[in-house]
Amino acid sequence: MSEDIFITEERIEGADDGPLAGKTVAVKDNISTEGVRTTCGSKMLEEYVPPYDATVVARLKEAGATIVGKANMDEFGMGTTTETSYFGETDNPAAPGHVPGGSSGGSAAAVAAGEADLALGSDTGGSVRCPAAFCGVVGIKPTYGLVSRYGLVAYGNSLEQIGPFGETVEDAAALLDVIAGSDERDATTHDAGDDANYADAATGDVDGLQIGIPTELLEGADEGVVETFWDAIDELEDKGASYHEVSLPSVEHAVEAYYVIAMSEASSNLARFDGVRYGHSGGYDGNWNETFAKAREEGFGDEVKRRILLGTYALSAGYHDKYYKKAQDARAWVKQDFDEALSEADVLASPTMPVPPFELGESLDDPLKLYLADANTVPVNLADLPAISVPAGETDGLPVGLQLVGPAFGEERLIRAASALA
Ligand code: GLN
Repeated sequence: MSEDIFITEERIEGADDGPLAGKTVAVKDNISTEGVRTTCGSKMLEEYVPPYDATVVARLKEAGATIVGKANMDEFGMGTTTETSYFGETDNPAAPGHVPGGSSGGSAAAVAAGEADLALGSDTGGSVRCPAAFCGVVGIKPTYGLVSRYGLVAYGNSLEQIGPFGETVEDAAALLDVIAGSDERDATTHDAGDDANYADAATGDVDGLQIGIPTELLEGADEGVVETFWDAIDELEDKGASYHEVSLPSVEHAVEAYYVIAMSEASSNLARFDGVRYGHSGGYDGNWNETFAKAREEGFGDEVKRRILLGTYALSAGYHDKYYKKAQDARAWVKQDFDEALSEADVLASPTMPVPPFELGESLDDPLKLYLADANTVPVNLADLPAISVPAGETDGLPVGLQLVGPAFGEERLIRAASALA
């Protein structure tokens, strides 16, 4: 089982004691580990060994955790199934024969299979929450700036955060405690996490909690997913929460805006992989343009190439205002809608994914279908907000996740509410 979960299995021991002493952690393979190869699921970085640790890895070691391996992922984080990995697919331990979700599929599968107590993933548009939902575990996407991105290989740097997985909300929160907080090596970090105690917030107390349910995030979702979602809301109601419907009209444009921004940022971030500065080299053949083109042709998979091409196009002279600027306007609108909805509710709830896990191989030929599966997760990244995915139950034996979204740096509130369910 474990060989399809990890790209590299390697034990890295941490300090003798600390809050995570005795805990094993799987680390997504786009998070740099000193001396241990970090491939991003790509042939391009098949042999890349970072000379330094990401800040989150340094913090894991200080906290006494044992890293057990570098987890499989969609190539450079681009995907929703972990099937775009150069190293092959990962089966879903909670639903064999189905995808584990993506892009942090190996991380979620490691926790679901008991191969690690905890795991780290990264979430640019849902890549922690989607695999958490599909594998029946808990995943947190922190507020933008809560966790250092130093040492995370960038895909869409204005959108992404490293986030924790655990079997329970309390476990994931304990890992968040270790990784959150300001970092002088990442100027976008905030001090909100410096003195927080997220694990202690996992009290399960939802008495008086006001839940807003955005109607747009239920539209078009699978019937079994919606039924399971309402069962979980009923459970929260039984424990003293109440809910009302809210509207986020802008989310209709969120998937388009997300993909324009993410692909534009990707086209710029991935320019460094040319076989000279970083990555696979096809060998110099007398002309630098040809040499770079060959390295990139050989080193990147189809989905990565598609996104670099579309992103480069969206940023090119003459099209910038038509696509990139419009997408930024939509992003501002999405933020504003969330602010309004959250002024009338403590948290917002929706199904994490509008569909249950796909069968392995089912969705590979239809990128658009996959992009649309991100409808409920990407708005949160556009708005820089925190969210958690917690198991809500099953439909036809397949795990369903409930997503809770909170105000910026409202992680404690999310953890308190979600811990009523897991
Ligand atoms: N599925 C989304 C994408 O492919 C999200 C990926 C992520 O969060 N890294 O871009």
